[in-house]
Amino acid sequence: MRIGFLGGSFNPIHCGHIAIARQALQEFSLDKALLIVAAEPPHKEIAFHVKSEERFQMLERGLEGEQGLEASDIELKRAGKSYTYDTARLLRERCTNAELFCIVGADMLFDLPTWYRAEELLREVSFIGFARGGEARDVREAADALTRRYGARVFLSQTSGPELSSTEIRKRVYMGKSVCGMLPGAAERYLYEKGLYMPAEIRGMQEKLRRALNEERYAHTMGTVRAAAYLAERYGADPEKARLAALLHDCAKVKKEEMLAYLEYFGACPYGYAKRSPSILHGPIGAEVARADYGVTDPEVLLAIANHTACSEGMGVLEKVVYLADKIEPTRDYAGVEETRAAAEQSLDDGVLACMDYVLKFLTENKREIDPCIYCAREYIRKQNKR
Ligand code: FE
Ligand code: FE
Repeated sequence: MRIGFLGGSFNPIHCGHIAIARQALQEFSLDKALLIVAAEPPHKEIAFHVKSEERFQMLERGLEGEQGLEASDIELKRAGKSYTYDTARLLRERCTNAELFCIVGADMLFDLPTWYRAEELLREVSFIGFARGGEARDVREAADALTRRYGARVFLSQTSGPELSSTEIRKRVYMGKSVCGMLPGAAERYLYEKGLYMPAEIRGMQEKLRRALNEERYAHTMGTVRAAAYLAERYGADPEKARLAALLHDCAKVKKEEMLAYLEYFGACPYGYAKRSPSILHGPIGAEVARADYGVTDPEVLLAIANHTACSEGMGVLEKVVYLADKIEPTRDYAGVEETRAAAEQSLDDGVLACMDYVLKFLTENKREIDPCIYCAREYIRKQNKR
């Protein structure tokens, strides 16, 4: 049995980690590779104080369906700092006859002799080093030096993973930018739903929404935030405004009695919407709730929340982004969602028009009330695109 292991804080796991683990599996004929979450990596504070359990959850979700790759929490079950030496000993106890391979970034080979109990570690396990572009020759020398001095078994991979970093992912999430494609979808979903790497203000709103909405609606909301980040970046909307509007777009999508209570609370219903059906009303009421209960003052954000149901003539980029994100976010699985997603890749207007066509077809077939605004909005976009 040949077992590789790759330790890290995985804050969060990203596609680079997975690429390296897959490559190690293949290139060095390993039977499996363990990705081990560090409880408290030596010399390093965990950014955003993300709990080890949460980092493990992201890792586990991120590796779902990956043949031969396993998330491991053995370091979490031990008390105190986990040195690679301790982990190697633990693995050795569990798999007495296995050959162990510690997978590292090749730059680590340079200071490996300074690691805790390095000599014993180098006797215990083999090393697989992944070089980053441009440093291959020095790395070879470092590997040879380890072999000469300690009799170490060091293998170097010719490939390097994609240039991704957890730091970059954290930074992007914090700023409201998309991390789509940088980490597995299931891990991305988890970090959004947990509010990891989000500014405190956004996290506070998330907590409040979690209490106000049912579980499914909350998951849909965070899916909309993810989709809005992607669309905002692609089509040039302000990422923070898109995040805020997407986050609160369904804040008034609550039980009918609660919605009626909102209506009463806000008095004469805003914008003369009083006679409209609840499925449309939760847009404009949502804007009122966002303002009154969540402290949102930005008129553009409020407008995007208000118009995500019925649309409006002359919708701006932010309104379109939120409208579309709501309908194509990753937890949506209605028949036809893939066509709308494909249209959204072509252009923002193509996506919005595809969405409107779908909504109109759905409402007609189900004999539901259609708000005339959507026809005006659709005509407006069509005319603009003809010009
Ligand atoms: Fe909605
Ligand atoms: Fe929604």
